[in-house]
Formats: sequence, C-alpha cells, structure tokens
Amino acid sequence: MSLVLGIETSCDETGIGIVRGSTLLANVISSSMEEHARYGGVVPEVAARAHLEAIEPAIRAALAEAGVTLADLDAIAVTSGPGLAGALMVGVGAAKALALALDRPLYAVNHLVGHVGADVLRDDGTALELPTVALLVSGGHTSLLLVRDLTSDVELLGETIDDAAGEAFDKVARLLGLPYPGGPHIDRVAAEGDPAAIRFPRGLTLPKDLERHRYDFSFSGLKTAVARHVERLRDAGQEVPVADVAASFREAVADVLTAKAVAACQDLGVPRLLLGGGVVANARVRALAEERAAAAGVSLRIPPLALCTDNGAMIAALGAQLIAAGHAPSALDVSADSTLPVTHIQA
Ligand code: ADP
Ligand code: MG
Repeated sequence: MSLVLGIETSCDETGIGIVRGSTLLANVISSSMEEHARYGGVVPEVAARAHLEAIEPAIRAALAEAGVTLADLDAIAVTSGPGLAGALMVGVGAAKALALALDRPLYAVNHLVGHVGADVLRDDGTALELPTVALLVSGGHTSLLLVRDLTSDVELLGETIDDAAGEAFDKVARLLGLPYPGGPHIDRVAAEGDPAAIRFPRGLTLPKDLERHRYDFSFSGLKTAVARHVERLRDAGQEVPVADVAASFREAVADVLTAKAVAACQDLGVPRLLLGGGVVANARVRALAEERAAAAGVSLRIPPLALCTDNGAMIAALGAQLIAAGHAPSALDVSADSTLPVTHIQA
C-alpha cells in the first residue's frame, strides 16, 4: 500500500494529509477563514498568501503526526483544480518541488472527486459502494455527481448556476447581522425558529426549470428573497424575526439539495448517496437527507466532518486509489486549472 502525502490549497484551507492506501495517518488543516471574516467571503489573494505561510509548517506537522519522514513517501498528490487559481498554484508548486526533490511520482487530482475519495478513509469497516450519487456542497461548490469509478468514471449531473450553497449561507448570515462564516450561525439560530414561518423560493424546481435543470441548483433568487423580506420589515419599522428567517431559509436550502439528490438516485436507479463539503455540517441538511434517503430506499453515507470539509487527506486518498488502479503519474509541468472539469479526475 502506497504511502502518499496529499496537498489541498484550492480555497481557504491549507490541508496536508498522509495516508497509507486507505488508512488515514495524518490530517493537518490550517485555515485562513478568520482573515476573510471582515470581507464576508474568501478573498483569493489573502488565501494564496496564507497558503504560502502555512504550507511548510503544515507538511512538517503532518509528517510528525504520521510518524514518517519525507524519504518514506511513495508519492505526492495535490489538488490541481477546480478552485482559486492563486491558491491552487501554491499547492501545485509545493507538490512539484517535493516530487522533484524526492524523485517520487506526482498525482495532480480533482478537488471534487477528492471529496468523494474521502469516504475510503472511514474506519468503520464499511467500504464505499459504487456507483453512487454524490452531493458536494461547500462555500465554493454545489455539485451533483454520478460516480461509477473513483479513478476513471465520474459524471457531472448538475451544479449551481449561480451561488454555491455555502456562499448563500454566508450572504444571508451577513444580511441577518450574523458573523462569517454564516453557516454554523444560521444553523444555531434556526434551531429556535419556525421553518414554515416564511415560504422562501426553491430555485430551479418549477416544472419548466426541471426540464432543463433537473439536477442544477440556484441560490441567488433565494438570497434576494431573504434580502427583500428583511428590507420590507426594516422599512416598516418592524423587528426582523431572525430565528424564523434563518429557519425558513435553511429549510429552503435543505429542501432543494436533498430533493434533487434523492431524485437523481431514483431516476438513475442508484440507491446510494454520498454527501461532502462544509455545508454537510448543517443539521437540517443532514436530517432531511436521512429522512428522504430512508423513504426512497437510498443508503446515505456521510464521511466524518473533518473529512467533509477541505482537507489534504482526501487528496492523498485519491492519489493512493489512482496508484492502486495502475494510473500513470501526472507530468511535472502540470499546472493549476481553476475550472478543471470533474470528468478530469487526474490532470
Ligand atoms: P470552501 O472552502 O469551498 O468554502 P468548506 O468545505 O470549507 O468549503 O465549507 C465552508 C462553507 O460551509 C462555508 O460557506 C460555511 O458557511 C459552510 N458551513 C459550515 N458549517 C455549516 C452549517 N452548519 N450549515 C450550513 N453551512 C455551513
Ligand atoms: Mg473552506
């Protein structure tokens, strides 16, 4: 089983993971989230600079955690896309330097497929069964995938046509005067509110939208609807029922995400759904996914949260899977690709 170090720098987490095959040895994450707080969203230049500062100490920490040295490594894996161009470049540059200096193969891999790969690191003795539908929801992505083979066959069923789900949480939190990142705060406040208080729109769910966008998502109309609602109350001098707005907004997001994901499982006859990305931490998304999956006879897999958010371990795991499946390494002149399609599992 190959000992692989994985590097993830596509957004605001500098993630370094080390795996041996599908065994997790280290998962070190350094996030620049706090540096973005005053801007209300990830600032690409700030993220790239933070990666530069964090990456070397994170590599050292991961090696120490795994109890291995650089010389022990069999291969280096790195996220080469999709993600923020400047942020990706830091990880890709570091990975190339390590591969060259250590004379080890380099595997440049797809971030989104990495989220699915995280599942092989579960230590509960259950194996990832394929094909599976995967719903990946984070601050940067909202994608529905059909994974037939982790290393050779991933299809994009649909994705957001505007904001990502996490981004919507962050923007609505800001509207409600809650701190960044908004997801956890909305989740907390929503627990006290009535999810049926306000009927917010469910993007791309009308029959005419479903024809063209059956598996696509849209959250910008929802965000605007929340903004209008809050504005109207404020203009009328009324108090904003923050808990009810948060609960009703969260319900709208959870409803659309889980309805479309479970519909994909049913349409395609694939009774398996895997969730990934930071938004999976959301209590209502999890509960509704469980409820609807169970009702549809779909088995639901949610990797542990530390492997759901951006991390290097999932990238190392995908690298190890590629090696095990006999794939050739990536070229050393591989470059970061901010829009790498999900069908390109390896660059
Ligand atoms: P990225 O780095 O691509 O933004 P992450 O996987 O790091 O994605 O996830 C961060 C996103 O997840 C943020 O948008 C954050 O608001 C959201 N998030 C975190 N926890 C929750 C939660 N409990 N409910 C909803 N969204 C959440
Ligand atoms: Mg992040």
